[in-house]
Amino acid sequence: MQPMITSEVVVAYAQCPRKAYLLLCSPDKGEPHEYVHILEQQRRENQERYIDHLQQTHADVQPYSLQHLHKGSAVLINAHLQVDGFAAQCGVLTRVEGTSTFGQYRYEPSLFVGTYSMTKEQQLELSFSGYLLERLQHTSPSAGSIIGIDGKSHTVRLGDSANALRPLLEPLHEWITVDAPTPPPLVLNKHCPLCPFQRLCHAQAEQEDNLSLLNGVTARVMRQYEKKGIFTVKQLSYLFKPRKRKKGSRKPPPVTHKVELQALAIREHKIYLQELPELSRHPVELFVDMEGVPDKGLYYLIGVLVCQGDTTEHYSFWADTDQDEHHMWQQFVDMVTQYPDAPMYHYGSYEPRAIAQLAKRYAADAESLAKRLVNVNGYIYGKVYFPVQSNGLKDIGHFIGATWTSPNASGLQSLIWRHSWDTTHNPHYKNTLLTYNAEDCRALQLLTDELSQIQRSADILSQVDFLIGGFSPPEGRLARGFKPPAFSRFLFQSAVKSAESF
Ligand code: SF4
Repeated sequence: MQPMITSEVVVAYAQCPRKAYLLLCSPDKGEPHEYVHILEQQRRENQERYIDHLQQTHADVQPYSLQHLHKGSAVLINAHLQVDGFAAQCGVLTRVEGTSTFGQYRYEPSLFVGTYSMTKEQQLELSFSGYLLERLQHTSPSAGSIIGIDGKSHTVRLGDSANALRPLLEPLHEWITVDAPTPPPLVLNKHCPLCPFQRLCHAQAEQEDNLSLLNGVTARVMRQYEKKGIFTVKQLSYLFKPRKRKKGSRKPPPVTHKVELQALAIREHKIYLQELPELSRHPVELFVDMEGVPDKGLYYLIGVLVCQGDTTEHYSFWADTDQDEHHMWQQFVDMVTQYPDAPMYHYGSYEPRAIAQLAKRYAADAESLAKRLVNVNGYIYGKVYFPVQSNGLKDIGHFIGATWTSPNASGLQSLIWRHSWDTTHNPHYKNTLLTYNAEDCRALQLLTDELSQIQRSADILSQVDFLIGGFSPPEGRLARGFKPPAFSRFLFQSAVKSAESF
């Protein structure tokens, strides 16, 4: 029997064709992620609540069946739409004015989700339900709704779903109709952490030294390298060629992340420098890390590590509930204003965004806080290449000796811990989050110190090498016994040699 093309498979194709292929063609359905379970449970509860309410407030609410569809009941619940090998679950169908194969009315779909905000994937799922409904009633629903867990209904225009879905449905249809379909190539991507096949794909990627192990290597980038005969991270590592600055060009080249150099760093197990990190350190410094629930746009934990000379002190500002966010924010602002000259180090774009949002929400002076923020990632991106697969704080942190108490500590895992806290108020989850956040602050401090150490002593650190084309070290470095350009020329030549011998 041919497998059904369900909403789950269609959405999976948009996230990663390989995921859709495995769901459709493999007997192994993987291990669903705990967070996906949580969202599904919230979705189910949301749908039940809404339908209960509908049944109490509307007269003609019927379970979905073809008979009730033809009869023209006002609301049909728990619909299982099925047409020619396609199937979709749809919480509610609502009768609206119009013309369809059933008479002077047609139906529009409503989908229930386990989130507050609406995602592109949920819109795609709704659009697929609209497509099946169009096939059943021979007219397309002009709109549908997505109902969030706060009960808010988001209207989505549907229009011509068939055309929009064709690029997804055609390859899926081909897989179920040919005898031995070819699986799509393995390309690790941003959806992997939530995917049921993560373990399987990651093991395979490691085994084949897949290019997509490196952060920044997308399907398109992979295809470009494959055209050059480059299929593995190791092969990629021989491709790095330091570029010399064009003669007469005064402008430094734009800073870009070079995956070839990342691959070389991994192969040689060395830190490569394209540019020296130039941090200016201060007598008092703050290392900040924040946790929130992006779906709600709320924040519940701010960790600050205060470093003065050899002493460090850690502070955690915690919100027990959504209503406590303001108090948490105020504690943070009061605390950081005690150190007006101290820079606030953070990693990536999450903290600046969070601080801007919270400052706006609670009418604080966003500008003076923003001025003090120092993104440590900015000293690494395109400049310092650690021998790890990504520039994430966890990857680099593990390399430089930072540790996390929970082996699975991550932003995604923190959402699960917070959900468990919200539903049980068990102090274990709060403590786990406080520890995780404090360890992120410490990892950030360690990384900042590591960069300063590289800045001071790159020329004598055995695990650090310069790989710089057309780069002139700052003059001050020469005065302190800085060795390139000769050293740099040597590395340049050896890299070219490696590339030639490959
Ligand atoms: S783990 Fe990643 S690569 Fe593998 S199927 Fe899932 S999303 Fe695709």
